Amino acid sequence: MRAPLRTCAWSVPCALLSTLILTAPGAVVASDAALEVHRAAQVTERWEPVPPTVTPGDDDAPPSDAIVLFDGSDLDVWEAVGGGPAGWQVAEGAMTVSPGTGDIRTRVDFEDVQLHVEWRTPAKIEGEGQGRGNSGVFLMERYEVQVLDSYQNPTYANGQAASIYKQHIPLVNASRPPGEWQSYDILFTAPRFNDAGRMVSPAQVTVLHNGVLVQHGAVLQGETEYVGAPGYKAHGPAPVRLQDHSNPVSYRNIWVRRL
Ligand code: MG
Repeated sequence: MRAPLRTCAWSVPCALLSTLILTAPGAVVASDAALEVHRAAQVTERWEPVPPTVTPGDDDAPPSDAIVLFDGSDLDVWEAVGGGPAGWQVAEGAMTVSPGTGDIRTRVDFEDVQLHVEWRTPAKIEGEGQGRGNSGVFLMERYEVQVLDSYQNPTYANGQAASIYKQHIPLVNASRPPGEWQSYDILFTAPRFNDAGRMVSPAQVTVLHNGVLVQHGAVLQGETEYVGAPGYKAHGPAPVRLQDHSNPVSYRNIWVRRL
């Protein structure tokens, strides 16, 4: 007869169970030994908690439990870091840095997150090194994942696109040419501080640039600094901040999931 147990649900060899259970031709009788194996296997099964159901987005659309920070229509979720409404331009489904209007940040605070950001540096190449398509995604307002046109544009490696600015060089350069949309998928673990304000667990970040792993659990030494060594200062939940570095870099399809 045909063995009915090829699709057995247990993580033990089905063939073994078959020999234990098929005691007579045409008859399926669970032997004591087989039941024992089954019971032993159940000991390590965990049925709770049941993970919440999330509907994934098609292509790069946000999953069902994401907080949409920018869907191409307006900057309602954003404000100028210097105060007042965000001064960046919104057109054709993208927001673009208006040089001189300053950094913008979300009106909402976050801690541990999964963050999706799409960005594009100007098609027309102007400037070089750090002056070419520079912007930045700051987690908790303080920890910068560098945005830069790093397509055939040499600069210091810990300041190129997908670097954790001045702290971690990306594993590879996955940059697309200027004028093309690129993406960051960022997994960020916020630093923890004790009641005395001392850092007890550093921030950690994993980044995929255009789907390519570029930062793998990078441990941050502290807040992003342009000059000098980074260090930690205690802080609570904080916004996502985007940098005005005087280059008209564009963003679209920004969403976040709290972890
Ligand atoms: Mg920058």
